[in-house]
Amino acid sequence: MKITKVLSFVALAMALPSMVQAQDLMAREAKADFLLKSSNVTKIINQAKANEEITYAKNIYGNHWNNDGVNVYKGMAKPEELVINLKDFSMPIKSRIVTSKYGYRPRFRRVHYGLDINGCTGDTIYAAFAGKVRVRKYDAKGFGYYIVLRHDNGLETVYGHLSKQLVNVNQEVKSGQPIGLCGNTGHSFGSHLHFETRVLGEAIDPALMFDIAAADMKADTYTYRSSGSHKATAAVAEPVLAQTKPAAAPAAATAAQPVQETAAAPQPKAEKHSAKSSHSTKAKAQSKVHKVQKGETLYSIARKHNTTVAEICKRNRIKENSTLRQGQSLTVK
Ligand SMILES: [Zn+2]
Repeated sequence: MKITKVLSFVALAMALPSMVQAQDLMAREAKADFLLKSSNVTKIINQAKANEEITYAKNIYGNHWNNDGVNVYKGMAKPEELVINLKDFSMPIKSRIVTSKYGYRPRFRRVHYGLDINGCTGDTIYAAFAGKVRVRKYDAKGFGYYIVLRHDNGLETVYGHLSKQLVNVNQEVKSGQPIGLCGNTGHSFGSHLHFETRVLGEAIDPALMFDIAAADMKADTYTYRSSGSHKATAAVAEPVLAQTKPAAAPAAATAAQPVQETAAAPQPKAEKHSAKSSHSTKAKAQSKVHKVQKGETLYSIARKHNTTVAEICKRNRIKENSTLRQGQSLTVK
């Protein structure tokens, strides 16, 4: 076997016009062989690390760590309240254009569990936070080539329709580190990034945490509640109303209106994800979110919504002297 290989190699080398090319061929073979071995070693080391190391956000996920898919937490208890630190945020793609929002899509009779951000095939996709690669998979009928990262703040982020994955499972990544390239794989029509944020598998609208147009987070922290405000459709769609109808009073938004708003919005890209979540789309609408406008203070916001500064501070876990950011979302009721 070995002799046959050597002989065929010699025959090939002799067939080449010069010895220089033969040497080049040998060098290339040696390099490929070396790469194969070193990648195996990396794989073994990474697997050993994954088994030994404490997984990220252990207080929420315990020892639950597997590489199987997006929502692998069915039946696991969700934290009643979780303050998610967003300070480490990096934009997952250079584009700031959201082409499809989170929410129910009547046309497809299903919920879109993330944001679609415009992009070209080959654009670099970056880790939104420091963390560890939990999933690197291909899903032909849904996400295409995708990556799931777990972060120490309790979030998991999903990056779908990639043309290329640049990181391996169980690999540690820094915030802003390239993890893939934008693409159009899976159930997607046109290159874009499908970006999701989840807590124990439950999808949360990324627009509640991040202002994609401003390439920034909306506040330093976001408070997740297992029975909480992020599930209310009014809270999800309020910024849409504020953007499209600046003259209208966003405070008047009811639970039903934002759904129609989403329905009326153009659907530039049709897609379907196989990911399922226990997330309910039924509006609970007990809460109201106010988007901070230029020149507003806690006092003026409290007056506007017939509440108190102390109440707003308590709901948003901020101090009375906290600096408000334009566009910041505050739960007022
Ligand atoms: Zn999408």
